Amino acid sequence: MFASYLPPVQPGALSLAFATALLLSLAVKFWLSSRQVRHVVQHRGQVPASFAATVPLDAHQKAADYTVARSRFGLLNLAFSSALLLAWTLLGGLDALNTWVYDATYYRFGAMTYQLSLLLAFVVIGALLDLPWELYDTFRIEQSFGFNRMTWKMYVNDALKGAVVGAVIGLPIAALILWLMGTAGANWWLWAWASWMGFNLLILVLYPTVIAPLFNKFEPLPDEALKNRVEDLMARCGFAAKGLYVMDGSRRSSHGNAYFTGFGPAKRVVFFDTLLSRLNGPEVEAVLAHELGHFKHKHVLKRMLTMFALSLAGFALLGWLASQSGFYLAFAVQPNLAAPNDALALLLFMMVLPVFAFFFTPLSSLMSRRDEFQADAYACKHARGADLASALLKLHEDNAGTLTPDPVFARFYYSHPPATERLGAILAGPQAQATT
Ligand SMILES: [Zn+2]
Repeated sequence: MFASYLPPVQPGALSLAFATALLLSLAVKFWLSSRQVRHVVQHRGQVPASFAATVPLDAHQKAADYTVARSRFGLLNLAFSSALLLAWTLLGGLDALNTWVYDATYYRFGAMTYQLSLLLAFVVIGALLDLPWELYDTFRIEQSFGFNRMTWKMYVNDALKGAVVGAVIGLPIAALILWLMGTAGANWWLWAWASWMGFNLLILVLYPTVIAPLFNKFEPLPDEALKNRVEDLMARCGFAAKGLYVMDGSRRSSHGNAYFTGFGPAKRVVFFDTLLSRLNGPEVEAVLAHELGHFKHKHVLKRMLTMFALSLAGFALLGWLASQSGFYLAFAVQPNLAAPNDALALLLFMMVLPVFAFFFTPLSSLMSRRDEFQADAYACKHARGADLASALLKLHEDNAGTLTPDPVFARFYYSHPPATERLGAILAGPQAQATT
């Protein structure tokens, strides 16, 4: 197809582009993070004027300390993961792993087992290297700010269950895609894309009904008054009110949340128990109205279609790269001569692509913030703006979100508008929202 019109990949040029993008993204990330820390520390001493009446100073300072602690941890983790990425790619790590797995599996068990073993070995090594970071995050940072509610036993239990679920779901789809890559000819990527989309839709149905219940308890909303209130709201907004659940999020963390998930018969509204314990009825209603706003404005559909389109482009790009020896050589991998290289291509692609995709973060953050403003405006129309504002402020405080982020950092990363802007728009009333 189009691959024949494109010039062959020059390994040297691709290595250089990758190294440049990686260095540049590191510089940007370090710069943004240090701006954020500086800004938050500078404003630690005083609650911003517009929140002086509603947010106590100690909550403001806890949020500042939490933001700084997370940022510092994030920078250390970034340094580690970048070094690891270099080790896997330019320094020959993936090539070494491939040689080892190939020798151990290919002649005895065949091509598919070799390729699945390579993927599995990569995932397992990555998870083990990531483990100390996750433990530190949960049992040191989250713990010291009073957010963590997990015990070691629960952590191990979750990890084992997660590994089994990951293998049960991940191995078949990986095998299918590898099989298509090997047998479906030059247009394999179209078939693989179609399978990948089907797989995603399947997960959308299975996640709320089968997967999430493995990790949490979901009980029908017991509070009759709240249930009536929520059902009224859903009826007003034209939603079939079914599947209202409470999830025991408090078992793991005190961070609160609510979500609207699934589609068709698997559609349901899930409230974290931590959310219900903090918000009153009208506030819960306002938060749900915001979530319904995302549906009414077709944000959910838009996001799904964007994901479909981007993954089509991604598979097309992979379809071209996987057939080019320059793609492998650029990352210090000697492609196999006798065996398929599809698992290698998948792994390289998944490691390299995010480095380039990082530079599009501000664009996706911007689009996401626009959606949030729209959903807020919708919520103000179908519930009370003042309730939404007080609910958001409570959640913000419970999650120790900073009220004084660095403006550039927020523009770059924030998927939700900073609290000042968001509450400002909500409290300014419907006229002001019509223009956002
Ligand atoms: Zn939202």
